[in-house]
Amino acid sequence: MKLVVASHNTGKVREINDLIAPFGLNAVSAGVLGLPEPDETGTMFASNARIKARAAAQASGLPALADDSGLCVAALDGAPGIFSARWGGPGKDFSAAMARVHRELSVRGAMLPSDRTAHFVSALCLSWPDGEDQIFEGRAFGEVVWPPRGERGFGYDPMFLPDGCDQTFGEMEPAEKDKQSHRARAFERFVRTCF
Ligand code: IMP
Repeated sequence: MKLVVASHNTGKVREINDLIAPFGLNAVSAGVLGLPEPDETGTMFASNARIKARAAAQASGLPALADDSGLCVAALDGAPGIFSARWGGPGKDFSAAMARVHRELSVRGAMLPSDRTAHFVSALCLSWPDGEDQIFEGRAFGEVVWPPRGERGFGYDPMFLPDGCDQTFGEMEPAEKDKQSHRARAFERFVRTCF
């Protein structure tokens, strides 16, 4: 089956490609097909994933898989949440976005690891050209650390320490992140339902 990965985020596309590779799916990214990026006007991860997957399925005539994801910090009332990409600004500067997370936690006096719990969410939407779609969600729990650690991954990976680990997502091998990430957990649900 040929599938569009409805994302222009190269870090995400790489992870989704790694996750789908064992299932013999032939994936092409929305960026490579030159599909436009729709405005993410939803108020939830799932609604934004649906907007992206539907737009790609309709524009390409192929089934499309979109991920909408983000980091939710408990002491920041779930921020940056669905605004995680927007906190990077037009230049997608996630060093600045991570510094903002740390700064806002500091302003609230949240300095101890136990004050800095957070989780990543991934909502995957599989959308068909006829308009049918399905949502699969996964979460990864941990805490945010400062300063950021590691050069791997993308986005907020260097500041996210998953529960039970001594390496941040930015320090661990990609295969290690793929065993426990929010995206991998959402993908497990997708696989259980579709294969
Ligand atoms: P989206 O493309 O609107 O879903 O943007 C999600 C944003 O959340 C990304 O730009 C990243 O900043 C952040 N994010 C989502 N998943 C991850 C992850 O696995 N690691 C680090 N940051 C992530």
